[in-house]
Amino acid sequence: MADKAAALGLRGEVQTETQSGFVVFSLPSAEAAITLSRHLRIDDLVFSRQWVWVTRLVDDLPARDRLAPLLAALTGQSAGFGDLRVECPDTNEGKALSGFCRRFAGIFSAAAGESGLIDARRGHSLPRLHLFFPVAERCYVGQSSPDRASPWPMGIPRLRFPSGAPSRSTLKLAEALMIFLSPEEQEQRLIAGRRVVDLGAAPGGWSWQFASRGMRVDAVDNGPLSEALLATGMVEHLRQDGFRYRPKGPVDWMVCDMVEQPSRIAQLVAEWVARGDCRESIFNLKLPMKKRYAAVEEARGLITALMGKTDTRFDLRFKQLYHDREEVTGHLRRLADARRGHAKNGVSSTRSRLRRLS
Ligand code: SAM
Repeated sequence: MADKAAALGLRGEVQTETQSGFVVFSLPSAEAAITLSRHLRIDDLVFSRQWVWVTRLVDDLPARDRLAPLLAALTGQSAGFGDLRVECPDTNEGKALSGFCRRFAGIFSAAAGESGLIDARRGHSLPRLHLFFPVAERCYVGQSSPDRASPWPMGIPRLRFPSGAPSRSTLKLAEALMIFLSPEEQEQRLIAGRRVVDLGAAPGGWSWQFASRGMRVDAVDNGPLSEALLATGMVEHLRQDGFRYRPKGPVDWMVCDMVEQPSRIAQLVAEWVARGDCRESIFNLKLPMKKRYAAVEEARGLITALMGKTDTRFDLRFKQLYHDREEVTGHLRRLADARRGHAKNGVSSTRSRLRRLS
């Protein structure tokens, strides 16, 4: 967030507390906060699930009546809100507050609906109100814009483990598809018959996501794939090294979950997309090291530099998903070629340019 603010010419102060589950970033003026809140998107933040523009901190809330001081804190502050989130940190201490948050959301909604503070009918055109309780006596009152924040409470997409999927890792890819593609983009780009390469596929949780959509998967791994997955007839198992494997012709997707150094995976993914071997890629970077943000930025720099050697326009994003552990997930996608009208030739000319470069 400090980097994003700096890019806008703003300097803020970061307050962190180890294991607290949240960070406060203070800007020197309301104008600075407004500027940042107008530009920042949750997509810009790799390790945050949600971000909220805090307008008030209400302390010493009495246990017998938390409603009145919070309603008072909001009096005359805003033209109204379209929705409410009552949240707490996703920590063990925070979990103890989740029941309270649920109950308080009901109480607050009823009062705020009556007073006109929240108008659910105008949900998407108004900001969302956030009440964030690090402890029951203290509340950060803030707001988010529905088009710049995560749509899910606490930024957590709740996914059910699909019966028949070979590994829990399937939820990572399911979440990545939800995070990186809008529902419309999913309909356009996850279509039966499209071709996928899955590098480091075993036992097959990621391949299952595509196979269950009728997509054809080449699953590359020396390890065993789930028999049930192979029985679908949608997946071919290739016992090969994922770093050496090349598809016979261009495919739509390449996904990669091999456990390797982030820089090696970044290089591999960039080469696939730059050469036109695939249109887009979702990949996991394992980050056992301490300086995870630095490792992600190094991978971003590597991919950007390699893609920059071609005339391919691209979109690159990273996110630590709810289902990720010490890792982040990336999405690299080639956009229509810069030289319009030459989309087909663009791929082959990019290929020969890369051959020349290497
Ligand atoms: N995405 C898989 C799923 O959903 O079931 C889990 C993948 S697991 C985290 C990593 C896999 O990468 C292992 O099965 C391992 O055999 C494979 N792997 C590691 N290095 C590889 C390489 N050089 N080539 C092919 N597979 C590799």
